[in-house]
Amino acid sequence: MKIRLDRTMCDGFGMCAKHAPSYFSLDDWGYASLVGTGEVPEADQPAVLRALLDCPVHAIIDVAGGPIVVPTSAPIPDEAPEPHPETDANEAEWGFVR
Ligand code: SF4
Repeated sequence: MKIRLDRTMCDGFGMCAKHAPSYFSLDDWGYASLVGTGEVPEADQPAVLRALLDCPVHAIIDVAGGPIVVPTSAPIPDEAPEPHPETDANEAEWGFVR
């Protein structure tokens, strides 16, 4: 995988540096720069792919142009499910009035 970063599109959301900090650095204003040549070894591809997919302005481009294959073996962080809000039991507590 080889990536390129179009800095003219970057809006400084910082998702890339969060997911793949060894490939993206942020300047003082939060805009990203590519670290290195853009070559991504297979071991790092899940994190870089996550950065590519999460960039809201599509500033990260896979220049190899191959199909994007989302690895199914990539670990998914544990997230506790949102608690289902009760309605009857906690209406008084939350101050709802029907
Ligand atoms: S995720 Fe995209 S917009 Fe955000 S800093 Fe990285 S390249 Fe820029």
